[in-house]
Amino acid sequence: MADGSWYDADIDHVIISEQQIRDKIDELAKQVSTDHTDAVDGILLVCVLKGAVMFMADFARSLGRHGPSTEMEFMAVSSYGQGTTSSGVVRILKDLDRDIAGRHVLVVEDIVDSGLTLSWLMKYLESRSPASVEVVALFRKPDAVKVQVPVRYVGFDIPNEFVVGYGLDFSERYRELPYVGVLKPEVYARS
Ligand code: 5GP
Repeated sequence: MADGSWYDADIDHVIISEQQIRDKIDELAKQVSTDHTDAVDGILLVCVLKGAVMFMADFARSLGRHGPSTEMEFMAVSSYGQGTTSSGVVRILKDLDRDIAGRHVLVVEDIVDSGLTLSWLMKYLESRSPASVEVVALFRKPDAVKVQVPVRYVGFDIPNEFVVGYGLDFSERYRELPYVGVLKPEVYARS
């Protein structure tokens, strides 16, 4: 970015670059399509808004180039937590629009941290009798290993820092960053 974007000034350091994200998504899509050659009805992608929206858009297009057909569903949930920590108690703000019984479901997640939201979601989806439910997460933080959520596909293991970009926000901002990075401390101080 020769001339710089408004957000570059707020970023302390980049964790994963735009190119790394692009290459990884292609790799994940190839892997998922190799593993699902028998999914004759295609794969039902379930995106959890809003953080996974960029990943969903790029991953679905990449999957389309490599193999199985996909359909897209979107859910919105709100976690009853304190500040930035999630409690695992989840309220559905937007439910699935269709029946997922008998379908191969792939949950498209932005980041798994405590894993509490995901573990609730898995139980919820499994109760609707799909043929299978699996998870692809672009990022995973170290705490995620403590929770028994089987995340079959993981893009990057990242350090235990609060990151923004590529769909991930701080107070609804920075989602449009094409990379993932850590904000400068003064950004928090002025908010
Ligand atoms: P968990 O239930 O796994 O603790 O929470 C997962 C959700 O918290 C993610 O889907 C994401 O929306 C949010 N989250 C976790 N870590 C980060 C982070 O470093 N940055 C941002 N912006 N959101 C995060």
